[in-house]
Amino acid sequence: MNLGNLAYEKLEALSQFTDSGEGITRLFLTKEHREASNYLREIMEKAGLEVEMDNIGNLIGTYRTSKNTDKTLVLGSHQDTVKNGGKYDGALGIILPIVALEKCIKDGIELDYNVKIVSFGDEEGVRFATTYLGSKALAGTFTEDLLERISEEGTSLRDELINFGLNPEAIGECRLKENVTAYLEIHIEQGPVLEHEDLAIGIVNAIQGSHRYQIDIEGIAGHAGTVPMKYRSDAGIGSAEVMVEFTNYIEKLDGIVATFGIVELSPGSINVIPGKSRFTLDIRSLDNNLIASSVEKFKEIVSKVAERRKLRFKVENTNIAPSCECSSRIINMLEKSVEDIGYKPFNFPSGAGHDAQEMKNLTDMGMLFVRCKDGISHNPLESVKSEDLEIASEVLVEFLKNYN
Ligand SMILES: [Zn+2]
Repeated sequence: MNLGNLAYEKLEALSQFTDSGEGITRLFLTKEHREASNYLREIMEKAGLEVEMDNIGNLIGTYRTSKNTDKTLVLGSHQDTVKNGGKYDGALGIILPIVALEKCIKDGIELDYNVKIVSFGDEEGVRFATTYLGSKALAGTFTEDLLERISEEGTSLRDELINFGLNPEAIGECRLKENVTAYLEIHIEQGPVLEHEDLAIGIVNAIQGSHRYQIDIEGIAGHAGTVPMKYRSDAGIGSAEVMVEFTNYIEKLDGIVATFGIVELSPGSINVIPGKSRFTLDIRSLDNNLIASSVEKFKEIVSKVAERRKLRFKVENTNIAPSCECSSRIINMLEKSVEDIGYKPFNFPSGAGHDAQEMKNLTDMGMLFVRCKDGISHNPLESVKSEDLEIASEVLVEFLKNYN
């Protein structure tokens, strides 16, 4: 069986570990997380790795070279999914390294360095509304205040870690102590570029930065029939005006995208003027300065609309992930590995955020993308061809052989 089919089979097996409902739902510190980790442990051990789980719930499989060195290459991605997600987002970046490394070991190829394959417990941030908990712990950027984050069910991260059998007080020790020389992540593209280019794989040269905000606008609720338009302080229509005006502004720029993904009006009744509005803004670009100037513009628009419509407002930043470049050393090595298997290197930026952004705080970082059907992701329809998995696996085997 070729590596693509082997990887495909293992991805199918991993996809059994899901909550009920459509697609894959495998959240951090749940029964499904435990079951998936048990399966991954089994196939990592079968591949010849030593396996352990750290105190944030990352499963780590280690290959030790017999050479006298503590140089370590880290490969990995996240085991968790969004609700009703797909089989490949995250999972691909755990399974392909296992398959490729197992191939090297079976073929008797001795690597000159150690390898760690990581299945990060949390990347999507669904349960605790904060992303990259696993890679933060490994990169040493996890801060203790995160332990107080509350889940949708009302439990704290600290308590959930304890219930999972982990020790939250020891998360500081998760930071990798080895001489980590690079982090490489394989991931589905989650966009349509590779499909349009008719390519199975692409090398990531940079990851877009993203800023997230929560906006609260307050006016005065009132009767939809009795309050004349000119006397209203309508939080709903004020928010709509902000969204349209800012979107018009962004559409005139290049290389930046803005999304208002959640909008809630209250009291939320057909015959009541909305007294309160709460909405989110997600803004992304490769250019951190462009994000900063656009956020200033956004605040200016909110303030202007609020003044005209007699509204109060609050704009609160909830997350900042700066854009970052991938390491040119890793890009060059990936290009060589792609050429070595007779394929064409193609470099492009990632529009989505990844664990690699966090891992850049620890070491050199690189990413390889694999084409996914229609660019669809975070959706049960996520689909990847086993032929593409074969090409990605071959590149990875070459990369492992050439890496130094
Ligand atoms: Zn992902």
